[in-house]
Amino acid sequence: MDERHFYALLLRGFFVVSAIVAPLLFFIKAPYGRHQDRAFGPTVPAVLGWVLMEAPSPLGFALWFALGDRHGAAALAFFLLWQAHYVNRAFLYPFRLRAAAPMAVVVMATGLAFNLVNAYLNGRWLYTLGPAYTAAWLLDPRFLIGAAMFGAGFALNLQSDRILRGLRRPGERGYKVPRGGLFRLVSCPNYLGEIIEWCGWAVATWSLPGLAFALWTAANLAPRARAHHRFYQQRFPDYPAERRALVPFLF
Ligand code: NDP
Repeated sequence: MDERHFYALLLRGFFVVSAIVAPLLFFIKAPYGRHQDRAFGPTVPAVLGWVLMEAPSPLGFALWFALGDRHGAAALAFFLLWQAHYVNRAFLYPFRLRAAAPMAVVVMATGLAFNLVNAYLNGRWLYTLGPAYTAAWLLDPRFLIGAAMFGAGFALNLQSDRILRGLRRPGERGYKVPRGGLFRLVSCPNYLGEIIEWCGWAVATWSLPGLAFALWTAANLAPRARAHHRFYQQRFPDYPAERRALVPFLF
C-alpha cells in the first residue's frame, strides 16, 4: 500500500472513530482529574502523564515539517500556530499544575496514540501530501478568519487555565467555584477556548485533517464539560444558576 492510500484510510478511520467516541463519552467519563476512577487501573502522576501524552504532538509535527518539502510563509505560519499551542500544553502547562489528580495510564496511552496520529495527519498533509499553500493564502479570508479564531480560542484557553490554576493555594487540594473571565457564563471556558482554537485551525488550513481534529476536540470536550458542570452543581448548592456547561446561554 502506498502512503497516500494509507493516509486516506487512516483519515477515514479517524473520522469514524470520533463519531463513535462522542456519544460514548457522554456515558464514560475519561478517568483523570475529578473523574479519576480506580476501576480504570494504574495511574501516573499528572505531570508525567501530560508530558508523555502531549509531547508527540509538537515533536511529531516538527518532524513532518522537517521531512516535508514546503517551508514557505504559509507553511511556517501553520507551524507557529500549532507549536504555540503545543509547546505550552506539553512542556509548560504540566509543570504549572497545582496538586493535580493522577492520570490513569489508559488515558495517557490513548491520548498519546491520538496525538501521534493527529500530528501525522495534519503535519504530513500540510508539508507533503496536500496541496501546497502559497504565501497568498495568508491573505485569504479563510486563513484570516481561521487564524483570528485560533488566536481568540488560545487566549480564552490560557486565561481560563490560569484562573483554574489560581484556585488552589500551595499545598491545597479539592475544588472551588471558579470565577472571572468567561466562567461568568460557562463552567468550562478552557474547553470552549480549545474547541474554538481547533475549529479555527480547520478553517485556516481548510483541510480534512484539520476538520477531523476539530471534531475530535469537540467530541472529547463537550461530554467532559457536561460532566464537570454536573459535578459543580452537585458539589456547590449555590452554584450560579445562569452558568451553562460549555456554550453561553445554550449548553
Ligand atoms: P480541568 O479543567 O479538568 O483541570 C485543569 C486543572 O485545574 C487541573 O489541575 C484541575 O485539578 C484544576 N481544577 C479544575 N477545576 C478546578 C476547581 N474548580 N478548583 C480547583 N482546581 C481545579 O481540565 P483538563 O485537565 O481536562 O484539561 C486541561 C487542559 O487540556 C485544558 O486546557 C483543555 O482544554 C486541554 N485538553 C484538550 C483536549 C483536546 O481534546 N484537545 C483534551 C483534554 C484536555 P484536578 O486535576 O485535581 O482535577
